[in-house]
Amino acid sequence: MPSDPLRPGEPRVLLTAAQIEGIVARLAAAMSARYPAGAVLIGVLRGSVPFLADLVRAMTVPVSVDFMAITPYAPGQGRVRLLKDLDLDIAGRDAVIVEDIVDTGLSTAFLRSELQRRRPRSVAVCTLLDRRVRRVVPVEIDFAGAEVTDPYVIGFGLDHEGRYRNLGLIAAADVELLTADADAYVAALYGSTDTAEVHESAHG
Ligand code: 5GP
Repeated sequence: MPSDPLRPGEPRVLLTAAQIEGIVARLAAAMSARYPAGAVLIGVLRGSVPFLADLVRAMTVPVSVDFMAITPYAPGQGRVRLLKDLDLDIAGRDAVIVEDIVDTGLSTAFLRSELQRRRPRSVAVCTLLDRRVRRVVPVEIDFAGAEVTDPYVIGFGLDHEGRYRNLGLIAAADVELLTADADAYVAALYGSTDTAEVHESAHG
């Protein structure tokens, strides 16, 4: 992991594109070994899309893909609701929920119980990032990428106000500075280290 000494508030690269690639390869191998007869991967819209796309291409067993969308959890706004349901019937099949990040765990816990009701053979959870320090409900994670503790991360599917999902890397960001001048902030991200890998990911 890059360890450049940065000033407080500057964005910090948590995972380079190459490190993400390594995580995806490891998780795809573990999932291919667990499900030799294949599995249904269920992406949670929209943050999981880049991760899911890389994951399925690295898997070596038959894979189906479907998507779900839910309302984001916000305190005081009641429970999480389903906005888009599956098109596939998962009864009797091995299903894997694919998340960008498991934070409070509320979304994942909701999705897991929602999917369990459809009588799949199994339901597992695969997440690129796991922020355990923020957990509100316990969630069993079967395939975990990297653990993070930073309060706000962007890139590789994770957005800020709808943008930056296409960054090839994952960065910890100061949400106030990001909101004040997002483009300058993200540009600083690419200037924060001169490793070729990070610059490559700007175009990846
Ligand atoms: P939960 O709190 O239910 O575990 O997480 C729900 C969703 O909130 C995640 O799937 C993700 O889309 C979003 N989320 C949580 N933490 C972050 C973060 O640090 N950055 C961004 N961009 N989204 C996040």
